[in-house]
Amino acid sequence: MSIYPTLTNKTYVVMGIANKRSIAWGIAKTLDAAGAKLVLTYAGERFKSGLESLAADLNGEALLLECDVTNDEAIDTTFRAIHEQAGPIQGIAHSIAFADKEALRGEFSEMTRGQFAQALDISAYSLTAVVKAAKPYFAEDASVITLTYLGGERVVPNYNLMGVAKAALDSSVKYLANEYGPHGVRVNAISAGPIRTLSAKGVGDFNSILSELEQKAPLRRNVSVEEVASTGLFLLSSMGSGVTGEVIHVDSGYHIL
Ligand code: NDP
Repeated sequence: MSIYPTLTNKTYVVMGIANKRSIAWGIAKTLDAAGAKLVLTYAGERFKSGLESLAADLNGEALLLECDVTNDEAIDTTFRAIHEQAGPIQGIAHSIAFADKEALRGEFSEMTRGQFAQALDISAYSLTAVVKAAKPYFAEDASVITLTYLGGERVVPNYNLMGVAKAALDSSVKYLANEYGPHGVRVNAISAGPIRTLSAKGVGDFNSILSELEQKAPLRRNVSVEEVASTGLFLLSSMGSGVTGEVIHVDSGYHIL
């Protein structure tokens, strides 16, 4: 018997699959295994074929739609199309971030106004933009998750500008949870431990972050994408029905140190 809750005929939108290492891909596979009807969004035309190849491995047939989160019109169009083609939205996994990698190393204050605005736009504001666009289309008891990191709560070497973006994202989760709770929509974040992905490559000396956690975290090991994804499933399904405005750390307990 499967330990997964059944999500058959429920529509989930997963945003932020760059490749097979992406946390969003782990979440998509887990939701697929639970029977969900998936909508996968990608940032631009050039990412489409890679995502099509990945999606071919899923049990169910996923709907693939373009959505650049820096463009409000594109977000609105995407969510209207999702509703038309896949019905009410049961959940959204927002797994999107970007910062110029020059601002993810060296002195924090060396970043520019432009780098700051872009990182906050894509990595923090986009959550609110997406939730706002999805508002008319949410199912009665919908759930939204985003991916955050400890560097938004305290200083982590080189995380710099992305730390500020994650702080804004964490705060957005609370304000959105408070606003959307009366409409039956839960909003939570997962604070994942470091995982080797395309985005992680941009963070200066990322290997040191991985080895520090391995040496010091209570579980003395790094976490897997699957562990993050199963917490995602919990929050996105009825199993997490009483949880909102929360940041759950899936980081081998490193954050308690
Ligand atoms: P990935 O690089 O695999 O995923 C990041 C995604 O963000 C990509 O799919 C990227 O799309 C997308 N993205 C960037 N800009 C845009 C845009 N304008 N519109 C739409 N999508 C965009 O890395 P991860 O899986 O690691 O990152 C997912 C989330 O997890 C991020 O929020 C990250 O900060 C967070 N996180 C990661 C940790 C880690 O150690 N890996 C730890 C804790 C949190 P594309 O590449 O196609 O542009």
